[in-house]
Amino acid sequence: MARYTGPVCRLCRRAGEKLFLKGERCLTPKCAIEKRRRAPGAGTQMNRRRLSDYGLQLKEKRKARVTYGVLERQFRRYYQVARKNPQATGLVLIQLLERRLDNVVYRMGFAESRNQSRQLVLHGHFTVNDRKVDVPSFSCKAGDVIAWKAGSQESDSVAALLQSVARRAVPAWLSQDAANFKGSIARIPAAKDMDINIDPRLIVEFYSK
Ligand code: SF4
Repeated sequence: MARYTGPVCRLCRRAGEKLFLKGERCLTPKCAIEKRRRAPGAGTQMNRRRLSDYGLQLKEKRKARVTYGVLERQFRRYYQVARKNPQATGLVLIQLLERRLDNVVYRMGFAESRNQSRQLVLHGHFTVNDRKVDVPSFSCKAGDVIAWKAGSQESDSVAALLQSVARRAVPAWLSQDAANFKGSIARIPAAKDMDINIDPRLIVEFYSK
């Protein structure tokens, strides 16, 4: 499946804010957005231009796509599914993104970043309800148990990874049992669980035109 493979810090600089795509490094002074307050390209100053409504909506949609590592076509498909749901479209859209297996693995603290969790899922390190799943976009549901595959549990690199991400808080809609290399979806995330700096209303407005 196609995905963006260019420099990820560039995506933050383009968005004009930190999107936390590189795990621990994003919290250090090495973060490119801390070091360089200029957008990539011909010297354009970030945040100088006043954006139109359309520009703001486009920016928010792009930010969400980049944060969750989803390409345009797939993102639009998520929107179309959300639109058919009787609940608020913006909330359902974010729920669909949060329920992706790569995001759940990241949220459970089993990876430093969504990029890393995507790689781990692609390489078959996880099972869902005891069945191997290597599709990052797999949509998890309430009650699903996500676990490291038996072979992966013995790996030194997995032990080191779990140690390094142990300090991260796990959201209330998930439960994590790192000692037993697994976690589960306690419930589908509600509006109060949304801790991302994304305004889904702008995205809905963008697609509603
Ligand atoms: Fe973005 Fe992280 Fe790179 Fe900073 S270090 S620019 S937050 S990906």
